[in-house]
Amino acid sequence: MERKLVSIQRIDHLEPIAGADNIVKARVMGWDVVVKKGEFSPGDACVFFEIDSLLPDGAPWAEFMRPRGFRVKTARLRGVLSQGLALPTSILPGAAPVTAQLGMDVRDLLGVVKFEPALPDGRDVLGPFPGQVPKTDEIRLQSALGVLDELRGEDLFVTTKLDGTSATFFRPLEGELMACSRNWALRKGDNAVWRMATKYGLDTVLPPGFAIQGELCGPGIQKNRLGLTEPDLFVFSVHDTRTGRFLGHAELVTFCAEHGLRTVPVEQVVTGEAAQAFDHGLEHYLKLAQGFYPGTKNRKEGIVVRPLVERPSPTLGGSRLSFKVINNDFLLKDED
Ligand code: ATP
Ligand code: MN
Repeated sequence: MERKLVSIQRIDHLEPIAGADNIVKARVMGWDVVVKKGEFSPGDACVFFEIDSLLPDGAPWAEFMRPRGFRVKTARLRGVLSQGLALPTSILPGAAPVTAQLGMDVRDLLGVVKFEPALPDGRDVLGPFPGQVPKTDEIRLQSALGVLDELRGEDLFVTTKLDGTSATFFRPLEGELMACSRNWALRKGDNAVWRMATKYGLDTVLPPGFAIQGELCGPGIQKNRLGLTEPDLFVFSVHDTRTGRFLGHAELVTFCAEHGLRTVPVEQVVTGEAAQAFDHGLEHYLKLAQGFYPGTKNRKEGIVVRPLVERPSPTLGGSRLSFKVINNDFLLKDED
C-alpha cells in the first residue's frame, strides 16, 4: 500500500516532557511526536507528516523547517524520540479545516513530496516495471497498527531488513527474463541487477511464470552494512504470476533451496503456543528491530514481519499482510 505521507490524523494523547516548558510529547497513530505546547488538546485533528516528508520551499507554515532543509526526520528532543511532524489543520488552504476528514491524504494539497536519497540512473532503464508483478514495498508498523490485530495469534516469521537495493527478476510464460530495479525494468547490460541474473542463471533457473524479489547487497551498494566481499541477492518474495499469489514462507524457503538461491536472514519463526502467546505490543516490535547485522558492528535497519501463511490485509487495503519495523537507533544515528 502506498504510504500516506501527509494525512489528517488525531492527537491520541499528550504528555509533558521533563524539563521542557515549550514542547510536549504527542501520540499520533503509533508515532511519538514532539509538538508545541498549547497547540493541541487530546482528540484534536492535526496534519501529520510522516518522516521523509519534504516540505515545500515557499509555504509560510513550512518556513521554520528551512534550517533542516525542509526534511522531516527522526529526531531526539530533550531525550524524547520525535518521529514526524504534527501541525494544526489551519495550515490547510481555504476552508479545508472544516471539511478535513480523518485519514484524508493531503500530501498534494500541501505540495509535499517524499525525500528520496538517490535518484535512479536513467541510462539503465528499459521500460516500465512488469504489470504482472507487485512492486516491492513495506508499510511502517507505526502507520498501520491495525495489522497487529490481524496477526495476533497467527504463526509468523521475522526476517532482517537488509539495506541494499530492491531487485525483481521475472520470467514470463513467453519471452525473456526481465530484471528490474524497484520501479523499472532494466536494460540488459553491465549493471548490478543483471549481473545477479547471470550469477544465478535466472533465465533458466526460474520456472516460467515466476518472479523472485530480493535485496541486492554488496560492495558499493548503500553502505554494504552486511560487510560482503561480493554482491549477492537475498530473496524475500516469490510470486507466481499464473495464480497471482506469493508463496508462503515454507514454500519460499523450499523454492530458494531447490533453485540455489539465498533468502533474507530469518530471525524467528513463531508457531503454535508461542504464536498464541506472542507479544504484539509496539514496544516489543521496536526491540526486535534493534541490533546488528550478524558478524558486524553495523546496526541493522530493522525487521520485516509476515504471517507464515500468506494472507490479504484489510488494514493494508487488501494487499499482503506484511510490515516493517525500522530500528530507531538506525534512524537516529545511521540514516543518510
Ligand atoms: P517508505 O515506504 O517507508 O517511505 P521505502 O518505500 O523507501 O520507505 P524501504 O524502507 O526501503 O521502503 O522498505 C521497503 C523495502 O525493503 C522493500 O522494497 C525491499 O526492497 C526492502 N527489504 C529489505 N529487506 C527486506 C526483507 N527482509 N523483507 C522484505 N523487504 C525487504
Ligand atoms: Mn514504501
